[in-house]
Amino acid sequence: MRVGVLALQGDVREHVSMLASLGVAAPLVQQPGQLDGLDGLIMPGGESTAIAHLLETSGLREPLAERLAQGLAVLGTCAGLILLSTTVTDGRSDQWSYAALDVAVRRNGYGRQRASFETELDVVGVGRVPGVFIRAPRVESTGQNVQVLAEHDHGDGPCPVLVRQGAVWGASFHPELTGDSRIHRLFVDSI
Ligand code: GLN
Repeated sequence: MRVGVLALQGDVREHVSMLASLGVAAPLVQQPGQLDGLDGLIMPGGESTAIAHLLETSGLREPLAERLAQGLAVLGTCAGLILLSTTVTDGRSDQWSYAALDVAVRRNGYGRQRASFETELDVVGVGRVPGVFIRAPRVESTGQNVQVLAEHDHGDGPCPVLVRQGAVWGASFHPELTGDSRIHRLFVDSI
């Protein structure tokens, strides 16, 4: 099994280490040919506008759109989730996304950097896992084909924080920044 890690910007190394700890080959994806032969892809956290820009300049934007349309299994964390969503609010005026996951997200929807926080999450099929939220996108609505695997109540009602629509997964938080590999395991096992 080969699960690539989109390596244009953001916390790439942490995802590679997680996958390596599960015995999964994790080649870096920086150019279109590196999408070939992948069983899955992780789109890391970082800065969605920067990653979107680099997807264009690297020539990856369209080839990745094609792979997503063909059903490539993908896990987007934080900025990665933003890039997969159908609707992005509080984005840059020219911000684009793949619309592979039928959710509406608000960038920095839990507040800016100083409002970053850690909590515990109850994940369907996994149990309690640590949730690290850094300038995290808030999932404000989900389409009917989207399965909610975890929610977090930030004091104003529960919001989805781990979602899945078929082969496309999104997390508002950073499962790669903890010592707990069970979210990665769940994703890899689904492939
Ligand atoms: N707020 C960032 C963005 O809009 C995402 C933050 C993150 O990935 N930790 O891209």
